[in-house]
This record gives sequence, structure tokens and C-alpha cells, in this order.
Amino acid sequence: KVRNAHEPEFLQAVREVAETVLPYIAEHEIYNGKNILLRMVEPERAIMFRVPWVDDNGEIQVNRGYRIQMSSVIGPYKGGLRFHPTVNLSILKFLAFEQVFKNSLTTLPMGGGKGGSDFDPKGKSDNEIMRFCHSFMSELFRHIGPNTDVPAGDIGVGAREIGFLFGMYRKIRNEFTGVLTGKGLSWGGSLIRPEATGYGNVYFAQNMLELKGDSLEGKIITVSGSGNVAQYATEKATQLGAKVVTLSDSGGTIYDKDGIDEEKLAYVMEIKNTKRGRISEYLDKYPNAEYYAGKTPWHIPCDIAMPCATQNELDKENAEALVKNGCICVSEGANMPCTPGAVMVFHNSKILFAPGKASNAGGVATSGLEMAQNSLRYSWTREEVDEKLKGIMKSIHNSCIEHGKDPDGYINYVRGANIAGFVKVADAVLAQGVV
Ligand code: NDP
Repeated sequence: KVRNAHEPEFLQAVREVAETVLPYIAEHEIYNGKNILLRMVEPERAIMFRVPWVDDNGEIQVNRGYRIQMSSVIGPYKGGLRFHPTVNLSILKFLAFEQVFKNSLTTLPMGGGKGGSDFDPKGKSDNEIMRFCHSFMSELFRHIGPNTDVPAGDIGVGAREIGFLFGMYRKIRNEFTGVLTGKGLSWGGSLIRPEATGYGNVYFAQNMLELKGDSLEGKIITVSGSGNVAQYATEKATQLGAKVVTLSDSGGTIYDKDGIDEEKLAYVMEIKNTKRGRISEYLDKYPNAEYYAGKTPWHIPCDIAMPCATQNELDKENAEALVKNGCICVSEGANMPCTPGAVMVFHNSKILFAPGKASNAGGVATSGLEMAQNSLRYSWTREEVDEKLKGIMKSIHNSCIEHGKDPDGYINYVRGANIAGFVKVADAVLAQGVV
């Protein structure tokens, strides 16, 4: 706590894990007295570097780059890169810490890491993005590799940025390897990777509902965000018979009571991915929808809520409003979008609640499948990858039940995910000694 006193998000993530894992450690002799959690909260390595680049006016700009290599005990470091002005050490350490547990849950051999920069991609030209990415990689390349650390995308880092980053890595190293995931299909990418986090989140919600004899059919869903995760959560939920009625961005929320169907989603993708515009532009084409400037979607009644934007975007008051309005299930697409107060409301109300480290693990799992295909020098079909993704989400759901079932039958998915993620890593830590 003293050592990380200025890192509130990191402390929040560690506290949530400690609350569920420490009692488990106390009950299991083999983990006693080994300071395993203490070893897991200290990154193996935290790299911070200068990223100088030239903007379109010929001016030199300087950003700060990071890579947190949290744990490689079960595999190479793996985790996304985030480009957003709010990026700092605390946020990346929380994300890297969560990533260790998430990657462990996927059943694939991947350690945990996270990185990024306080660079703001909004309003930048393609050339500025390219120059920034090239500069970023001209330092990052010496710390990563297909058997060392394999970054991917996250907020502000999509297919365009991965392309620029990969291009520079390939040039400097003079080798073509699977050092990044989320690559384009013609140069080593995997089918379903762009869709995987959003799809996986919906598959997880489906698993939770099925356990209660329920389904997604006819459910009203509020989704926040309108980026990669939000878009594909909307697509899959709609395909499975639900109606998604909201999307948002940092400007506000759109509410379309008729549902955001395939055609409307295509328009959202055009606004956000091609024009890089604002979600409020949805009303230009669909004026019957409503726009709430500066608001999140949580005041709108729904059966299921899927926060898919960013950390701490859904607080205790939002949670109370959701429960009061009849919400029965919350499945996190983003990382730690619900505050501890919100999670407590969901648990006290005994509604279904899936923490991101379980429900959004489909993205990194499919990145793991991309790594496997790169190593095989082979590509699986869309159906093959989707089936594997479904299987992995089911297996994560089963692990949560194994460790999260309360005496009254309620599944505490937070405890389940934390303990299941912990056990695999802790066993490897014990086997490898004090290193
Ligand atoms: P994108 O950059 O594609 O989209 C992010 C969305 O969230 C945008 O709509 C953005 O709005 C909104 N947003 C970001 N920051 C804020 C903020 N501070 N306040 C309000 N809205 C905000 O990112 P992704 O969809 O990839 O990521 C979303 C979340 O999912 C993140 O928490 C990420 O860590 C998590 N995640 C992503 C994975 C992936 O595979 N991409 C895997 C696992 C988790 P605006 O356009 O206005 O900035």
C-alpha cells in the first residue's frame, strides 16, 4: 500500500483479488507462508520510455510510453497496448495485474502484461498516427518478441495502429514473427480476433443465463462504449435474439428503443471506425433515437447491462438504478468498469454479475489462438476459431462455478474467477521457486 500509494486503480484491482484469494490461501496449506500474492503484485519489469514524434505542423511532440511485464510464469507476457490521454502507471499496472488472472483462466499458456501511452489518437491524421506508432515501436521492439512478450490492441489501438507497429518491428528486427496479435488477415491475423472480445462477452452472458434456465432471446440490453468491444457485443447479442438499445462514447449516450439492428450497427461502424466521428452522429440517420449528452446508459431500463467502455464507468448509484429498473444480469466487456460499490449492489441483489477478467477474456484467448496459428504457419477457418472461442468461454464459466458457488447456490463469479485464475499461476510460482 505504501509502495503503491499513488496508484488508486492498481490498489483497487489488487484489493478485489486479495479479498477473495487471501481466505482461499488461508484454507490451503500449500499456499501458506509463501508470500505468493506479494510476488504476484510486483511487476517482473516496468518499462517507461520517451516517444518523440513530429506532428503535421512540423512540431516535435513528446509522449510517454510504457510496458508493464507483470508475470511470465505460465507463458510469454501477453496483453494490449492502450493509447489514451488518461494512461498512467496506475492504470497500466491494474490492467497488467488483471491480465495475469484473465490469461490464466483462458486455459492457454500466456503470462500477463499491458502497455501503451498517454498519446491521444483523437483528431490525429493517419500520418501522425503512423509516425507516433513507428517511434513507439522503435523503443518497444527491444523488450518484446514472439517468445517474450506479445502485445495486442486496447483502447485507441485497433487494426490501423497494429499495422504501423508491426511494420516497424518487422523492419528493425528483419524477421516476420507473431510478435503482435490483432494483425490483418493477409499478414498473420486470425479470423474472429476483431469480434472476439464482444462475442466472448455475449457467450459468457449466455452461459450465465442458461445455468438459470434462461436465454438471451427477447432481452433488452444496454451497452456502453461504441468501440471494438461494444460493436461486436451488439452484433452477437442481436444475432442471438436480444435487442441492444444503447451505445455511448465519452460525449454521451444514444438510446434507440427499436434496437440497434445489423443495418444500424453498420452505420455505427462507419461513424466510429471509418470517419472516426462521435456517436451523436447516429441521430443524423436515425432521428427517432434519443441522445443524452454527457450521460452513461445506466438510467435506461434493461434486462442486461454490458459496460464496454472503460474502468469505473458504472458506480453504486448506477448499479442501484439498474437493479431498481429490473436488470437481472451485468456482464463486463471492459476492464473493471464497475466500481467496488456497484459490484456490492449486484452481489447483495443476487443478480448475475460477470467480472471482466472472466467475461472479456475471449479477446486475449483468440489472440492466443492467433499465436498458435502463427507458430503453426497455418490459419483456421472462421467456424473453427468461433467454436474454440465458445469452448473457452464455457470452460471459464465452469471454472467460475467451481470456485464461486455460495452455500445458497448463488454464483459469485468474482470469487470464482479470482481463485481459478490464482490457482494456476500460484502452482507455477511454487514449482519454479523464488525467481
Ligand atoms: P476502443 O478504443 O475501440 O473503444 C473505446 C470506447 O470506450 C469508445 O467508445 C470510447 O469513447 C469509450 N471510452 C474510452 N475511454 C472513455 C472514458 N474515459 N470515458 C467514457 N468513454 C470512454 O476500445 P475497446 O473497445 O477495445 O476497449 C473497451 C474496453 O474493453 C476497455 O476497457 C478495454 O481494456 C477492454 N478490453 C478490450 C479488449 C479488446 O480486445 N479490444 C479485450 C479485453 C478488454 P471515445 O471514442 O469518446 O473515446
